[in-house]
Amino acid sequence: MSLVSKNTATVPDSKIAMQNVNQLLVRINGTLPELSTLGDEEKSERAAEVKKMEFAGNTSCSVLTINPSTDSKNEIFHVLVDIGEGVVTSLEKCEADIASIWPLAKLSDIPNAVLITHSHDDHINDLPVLLNKVNGSDKLNIYCTEECHNQIMNKFPQIVGSRSAVSFKAIQPSESFELGQFSVTAVLADHGENSPPGSVIYIIRIQDRKIICGWDFLSLPNVDEKIFWSPDLLILGTQSYNPHPEETGMISVTEAYQLVRRWNAKECYLVHYRGLMDFEEGKNQWFRGPVKSMTSAELQTNVDSHLGISGDNGRFRITVAQEGMIWTPDETRSHSYDENIPIGNIIEIEALQQYIFKIEKETIEDKLKVTIEDRIDRYTLRFDRPRRDKNNNQLIHAAAEKGMLAKGPELTMELVTPESKEKEPTALKIRAPKGKKYAFRDDILINDIDARRLKKYFQENFAPSAN
Ligand SMILES: [Zn+2]
Repeated sequence: MSLVSKNTATVPDSKIAMQNVNQLLVRINGTLPELSTLGDEEKSERAAEVKKMEFAGNTSCSVLTINPSTDSKNEIFHVLVDIGEGVVTSLEKCEADIASIWPLAKLSDIPNAVLITHSHDDHINDLPVLLNKVNGSDKLNIYCTEECHNQIMNKFPQIVGSRSAVSFKAIQPSESFELGQFSVTAVLADHGENSPPGSVIYIIRIQDRKIICGWDFLSLPNVDEKIFWSPDLLILGTQSYNPHPEETGMISVTEAYQLVRRWNAKECYLVHYRGLMDFEEGKNQWFRGPVKSMTSAELQTNVDSHLGISGDNGRFRITVAQEGMIWTPDETRSHSYDENIPIGNIIEIEALQQYIFKIEKETIEDKLKVTIEDRIDRYTLRFDRPRRDKNNNQLIHAAAEKGMLAKGPELTMELVTPESKEKEPTALKIRAPKGKKYAFRDDILINDIDARRLKKYFQENFAPSAN
């Protein structure tokens, strides 16, 4: 990042410098105080009390982007997600925290939008504090469900009196709405026994980036999970290391591992860990697993050793988040693609689910080699005379290879783009029948950029069949 600051010092037009840096940034504004910060003796006595202490803290993040249409200065578009106690103070440090990445950008006091997940104290208690900062023609734009709106109004009747400074927008779960350059979708969340009606989590998209603000939920009923696939950053709220659904109303760290894998997240931040139930488990001498509420560092050590043992190191990262942490997208991940550069005869794609596959056109011999790998198996298939279907550019047929002993499988491979990209990714349907059985048969789901690359690969490498 030091290079970025150097550039901006020599380039007078700030917009030129900005083109070289990230246009998206997430700051963690709070993660709840660690239970371990309480004295040991106090812990057992105060366990029950602490359980009710959610108000003394917060879980919150800011999702920021640079507004491209500004001339003299780089204005930041700021979406704040949740605003428990301490968030307003934390935000005062935000501009300084992001200065190493966006040195010229100015952050205004009032976010462009405040999204509320649910009305628990540790997610809304600083609303009146922020409201006090609103002056002049500014308005506090609050987005939440109708139920959540009513709960907030009951709790903070003073907001009713300052109507002119506040604008509530009721959101519908599963319906997307635009916020500046962002597209936001709320997903209905079940937050356990004390779940306030209308609780949601948020999916925030910008271009082909996806951030999931997923805290304080136990399950996500009635949602097609495809909406969660392949996030650039998955922020998950976990209360305990092992599952304690009744006591916590939230997923555990071990369940977070599964979601990271299932949704193919490249990076996960854990927030909201308190470990109160881990501490309770310490009373059972036979219990295997964490037996105290861990500090962030101890939890991180546990997470790292789990990822080491499970072989997930390098596939994704899980970080125990802390206030002030800044996330920027991993630029090495292919999120842009130049249509003018030829792909060549080999293409390798990491699918949204378990597969990695490689397609190789062997031009001289007129053969096609397809290698598909998942966590357990590796399929290497070869075919003869691959051709594009004469009526469908996105469909490839190839004949069986005549081996020494038996005929190999045949192939059809079709790229199917769904009607609604928001809800469903593109699928590469691979069917490799061999007699009555299949050597391989599955629909491999891929992201938009890879779908475009694959389409171009088909066009470059395969001639349409004559009949
Ligand atoms: Zn909650």
